[in-house]
Amino acid sequence: MRGEITGENTRWKILCPAATGKRAPPGRSSIILLVLDLHTEVKYVKGVGPRVAEWLEQKNISTVEDLLYYLPFRYEDRLNPRGIGELRAGEMATVIAEVRNSAIFRTRNGMPIFELVAGQGRSTLKCIWFHGEYLRDRFKPGQLVALYGKVEEGWKGRGLQINQPQFEVLDGGGGGEGELDLESAKDIESLEVGRIVPIYESAANTKLTSRWFRRIIHGALENLGPQIADGIPPALCRRLGLLDRRAAFEHVHFPPEGEAFAALQNFATPAHRRLIFEELFFLEVGLELKRRKMRSRPGISFALTENVREAIKKTLPFKPTAAQKRVLGEIAQDMQQPSPMRRLLQGDVGSGKTIVALQAAVIAMENGYQAAFMAPTEILAIQHYLSARRTLEDAGYRVVLLTGSMDDALKRSVRRHVAQGNVHLVIGTHALIQEKVEFHKLGFVIVDEQHRFGVMQRFKLMKKGDTEPDTLVMTATPIPRTLALTLYGDLDTSVLDELPPGRTPITTRKISDKRANEVWDFVRKQARLGRQAYVVYPVIEGAPAEQQEMEFANEPVGARSKTGLKAALHMYDELRKKVFPDLRVGLLHGRLSPEEKEETMRRFKAAEIDVLVATTVIEVGVDVPNATVMVVEHAEHFGLSQLHQLRGRIGRGAAKSYCVLMTGGKVSQEGERRLNEMVRTQDGFEIAELDLELRGPGEFFGTRQAGMPGLRVANLLRDRKLLELAKVEAAKLVAETDPEVSLEDRKRVMAHLKNHWQRRYGLVEVG
Ligand code: ADP
Ligand code: MG
Repeated sequence: MRGEITGENTRWKILCPAATGKRAPPGRSSIILLVLDLHTEVKYVKGVGPRVAEWLEQKNISTVEDLLYYLPFRYEDRLNPRGIGELRAGEMATVIAEVRNSAIFRTRNGMPIFELVAGQGRSTLKCIWFHGEYLRDRFKPGQLVALYGKVEEGWKGRGLQINQPQFEVLDGGGGGEGELDLESAKDIESLEVGRIVPIYESAANTKLTSRWFRRIIHGALENLGPQIADGIPPALCRRLGLLDRRAAFEHVHFPPEGEAFAALQNFATPAHRRLIFEELFFLEVGLELKRRKMRSRPGISFALTENVREAIKKTLPFKPTAAQKRVLGEIAQDMQQPSPMRRLLQGDVGSGKTIVALQAAVIAMENGYQAAFMAPTEILAIQHYLSARRTLEDAGYRVVLLTGSMDDALKRSVRRHVAQGNVHLVIGTHALIQEKVEFHKLGFVIVDEQHRFGVMQRFKLMKKGDTEPDTLVMTATPIPRTLALTLYGDLDTSVLDELPPGRTPITTRKISDKRANEVWDFVRKQARLGRQAYVVYPVIEGAPAEQQEMEFANEPVGARSKTGLKAALHMYDELRKKVFPDLRVGLLHGRLSPEEKEETMRRFKAAEIDVLVATTVIEVGVDVPNATVMVVEHAEHFGLSQLHQLRGRIGRGAAKSYCVLMTGGKVSQEGERRLNEMVRTQDGFEIAELDLELRGPGEFFGTRQAGMPGLRVANLLRDRKLLELAKVEAAKLVAETDPEVSLEDRKRVMAHLKNHWQRRYGLVEVG
């Protein structure tokens, strides 16, 4: 019997065994297979079942399509597995061999080493894993294993060995609940050797191994109908030479013969490119639609009269840079439009974003609206508050501060004034977005250091106006335009690409804290010249002091925390009493009360403090031009962007500034690279690029970057070129300017977007 039956939601394919070359299960004369489509629930995939489906759910795999998007994270070239006898030291090789025996040894200092001996006939190969205790019961004599790694000369010339090889047990185990019925050893073998093999991340606490995924996905592809839905318009596929979608899925999992290995590893094969483009294309179409929708929403059109221009000029304490003028022009242009402004202002630390934002706020205030300014830390909010009062109060604007740790009665009174409209500008922290805060007439929102807030927090503040307020978000993290457009999809961008005049480049040095005394001498010299210094520590507090003194009795300057890191509180004492008894030393960290913070900031600004011991609370925004020295202890513990921000606290005046990156203890290779880059360049753009490269976009923007789309294949950094292309094509599609793309095609794109993207990324909601 042969043919197809169609059920309610499913199709079944009936094959006569002879046609497939497969053996029918005992008692049955034909094989019945479910013909899968992309939306079929994963539990119907052969070898999965309800229980495994639950495990897969944890990996967000619920349909066949999700399963196919579970891509190999690397590949192994097992085209030509090697005979043990022909191995040479120094080469990378795959060896398929039989387990002979295994054991655990300990080195003299107690480190467990797992040793495996594998053989082919009379040749044997030793493999070792340091700290390999977890492998104790992993191998059984007689099993076939694939081993992949660098061949090395064994200890004292005892033959060759592989240290820490990648490995895979090729028979038995590995399937758990979803164990496949091994139809023929030959079938399976063809997935494991003699080809480029896909390697998957294991799941469900390694119950679902790489090998398990390989077989399940192979089976799913075999039973997938020949036609699968493709949302990309055919004309576009042709023009860009995109691989067919079904073929792309097949090829990324099971590369065809002749596929270049390097291209596979780099996600650069035609199959990868097709899937990456597809993902980015739909993302960009979604963003483009969102932008359009936003442009059609009602907003406030502010008037830019002569009076308003005069008012702006009055608030300027200095001559604006050309970049500041241009950016204010861009903002003012937006503010006059009837749709809500959403603009991202990028500018390196110290480029003078704050004053531009305050001037834009003046436009709103002169039009009878209130403005809100949200900063990520209390210290920053306080500082903005102090400087806004300085620039705005003389002109008659009333400015207030609102932060969470303020006294309740005071908060209530501030909220009342804001609600009654007695206040023009309110500056604060997250406290601003609390429900209790109501505005009389909010028209303009400023969010400083955007990357520290989630997208949703920004929206919360925007919702506090009756008509949607204009929004300006600022960031010192320079990111490429297309990337910015994707991450902050709904924002237009302005760039302050010029520093205010009179800045001298900062000298940066890297030095071990064994030479701390030289650094302190230097700080003292600067203080005697009337300058001020920051000394930054990675933690506030550590272990009790007595204990530390015992542990670190012979350190030049003691007081390290449990983690071995010097802590701000102890070092404050140390520096104040022993190192700088002749100087005025202050302390600033997150746990102080807002009054203490404000007082310390005020004193530091007024040069009543020479040396400010601090944690990274001062990382963003703090602006004291007379401070010329930034000492960062345990600099190896900080990320690049963080160091760049910290260094941005100095070099803000005309005097020469110095940044000293002190290392304490062992520095990793990557840490070393970060510090060397800091010494080499002061260019925020370069540093951001490198940071992005070292950490990847997810980490780079932090988990709080709630607007970060959850991509499955694409990597916004690696695939920047494709991102550009996808954006151009998406814009064309939405604007309907591509004559080759029919109305039907467009409808299909929208339908695809609706099915896939709304659910996954909530693109439509966020807006
Ligand atoms: P950031 O962009 O890092 O937020 P700020 O707005 O804090 O930078 O500005 C850095 C410093 O430069 C501040 O002291 C500010 O008063 C000063 N500044 C800004 N614009 C100018 C200008 N056009 N001329 C001189 N100094 C300026
Ligand atoms: Mg700033």
